[in-house]
Amino acid sequence: MGILIAEDDAVSRRMLEATLKKWGYDVVVTEDGDKAWEVLQREDAPRLAILDWVMPGLHGPQICRAVRSLGDQRYVYLLLLTAKSEKEDLVKGLEAGADDFLTKPFDAEELRARLRAGIRILDLQETLRVQATHDSLTGLWNRGATLDLLRRELSRGERQGTPVTVIMADIDHFKQVNDMYGHLTGDVVLREVAHRLSSAVRGYDVTGRFGGEEFLIVFPGCTAQNAILQAERLRARILKEPVDTPEGPIPVTLSLGVAASEPVTEVDPDLLLRAADTALYRAKSRGRNCVELATAVELRIPSSPTGSNRRRAS
Ligand code: GH3
Ligand code: MG
Ligand code: MG
Ligand code: MG
Repeated sequence: MGILIAEDDAVSRRMLEATLKKWGYDVVVTEDGDKAWEVLQREDAPRLAILDWVMPGLHGPQICRAVRSLGDQRYVYLLLLTAKSEKEDLVKGLEAGADDFLTKPFDAEELRARLRAGIRILDLQETLRVQATHDSLTGLWNRGATLDLLRRELSRGERQGTPVTVIMADIDHFKQVNDMYGHLTGDVVLREVAHRLSSAVRGYDVTGRFGGEEFLIVFPGCTAQNAILQAERLRARILKEPVDTPEGPIPVTLSLGVAASEPVTEVDPDLLLRAADTALYRAKSRGRNCVELATAVELRIPSSPTGSNRRRAS
């Protein structure tokens, strides 16, 4: 586990660093507040930080305030290091967003105990975060998290001028599986389909359980043409072999609707989802176990003089 130490006093800094390293932590050290803030904004930032109260650049409480204003999903546990022990100061630190204090010169046993308390909170926070963002049956992202990730990818796509494609996939005649084999066997099928889908896409694609037997997959940087190939691949993956269940092998098929954003304009996630859903509905009415692409009209894309047909699925 990584811990950031931000402390301008060389003696105290080295002692903290040596102690934490001895206890097996990965330590990142900075000598001023600005660098500490820079480290804490990184995607792989340590989740626990020991911040000196007074140092060059941003002071400890200012960093606390800045970290809390990020409102990140991942909690960062902030321990203020201070020579101050006046009650009034402690209150100020807590109000700035600090979780706990350590007074200088620090006592190793006290530091160890405070770190343990911090790590307990972080572990709990992580468990809650996973529970809040994942579907308990399949382990995929849940609907809310999938939508958040879609929005994030759409703004990234807009910034970078790249498209984002979504695939809405729905298991065909799934009600019959429940009716014939029971709900628990239905759950086994859902879990296996989820596993096949998520293991068939790249790590930075988003696979979510959108509803009962409906999945949403988000492909950043993927054009419509490419997404059709992806969707066909997923369809083939599910079709290829029946799902093994305690009730025997059960054949499963998927219908899929594909919708791709235009990279040049601001994209409304609801519009994209509606278009994918309409395409999925078309796939169902075409006889299921097939892929349909959302049309330009469904995506409300103004018609261009050339290539007016390019969004039609074959
Ligand atoms: P279609 O091909 O038109 O999609 O038909 P379908 O039967 O798959 O669609 P329908 O919407 O009629 O039925 C979906 C079924 O999915 C009904 C519901 O009981 C089942 N379902 C939803 N969530 C779960 C779940 O968590 N576990 C199980 N076992 N079944 C679920
Ligand atoms: Mg200092
Ligand atoms: Mg269905
Ligand atoms: Mg459905």
